[in-house]
Amino acid sequence: MSHTYLVQWTIKPKIAPRPWLACNRCRAARPFEPSGKTRLNANGRRLDAWLIYRCCSCDSTWNRPIFERRHIRDIDPHTLNALQTNDEAWIEKVSFDLDGLRRDAGQIEEFSEVHVQKTILNPAAESSPPLEIVLDLAMKTSLRTERLLSMELGLSRKRIAILEEAGRLSTAPSGKNALRRPVKDEMRITIDLAGEADRNAILSRAGP
Ligand SMILES: [Zn+2]
Repeated sequence: MSHTYLVQWTIKPKIAPRPWLACNRCRAARPFEPSGKTRLNANGRRLDAWLIYRCCSCDSTWNRPIFERRHIRDIDPHTLNALQTNDEAWIEKVSFDLDGLRRDAGQIEEFSEVHVQKTILNPAAESSPPLEIVLDLAMKTSLRTERLLSMELGLSRKRIAILEEAGRLSTAPSGKNALRRPVKDEMRITIDLAGEADRNAILSRAGP
């Protein structure tokens, strides 16, 4: 039996990363955003697929390769079906795939705005159990752990630092400066709030 008040935070970035590219029409480097559309071209049994981006200033397009000149038998059927049906969920996933975008674009603008959905996995007991937060990230984000805690729990950065120094706030995986790094999937944050005057307010913000 777990002796923590355990909550899961499912984190979803709000804005897809934007590559900065030389726009022919603007004659300057501009951010491009995903249009939510793909293009699929067939040349015999070989296919090309792209995700279409638009210049934020002039609507010029950039085609980000998903695959090129690939034989139809080498394409995952789920991917092919998603491309043929313009599957919104799949397109969104590719739009937020930062590592995939890095292969095709040099400079990328990342956003730290996220939507956080909170679920209670183990309810709080009457006593003062530590608060444990487990993160669930479907997509990468540049949001730092410290900033997430500050926003969602209403704790100042100074207070987070004090709790950390006192050994009352820890992360797993741990490591130097873990709080200053971007949040990670399956990361666990444990906070001992015993004796804190606003403990109940913090616990209520931690849950849904
Ligand atoms: Zn442009």
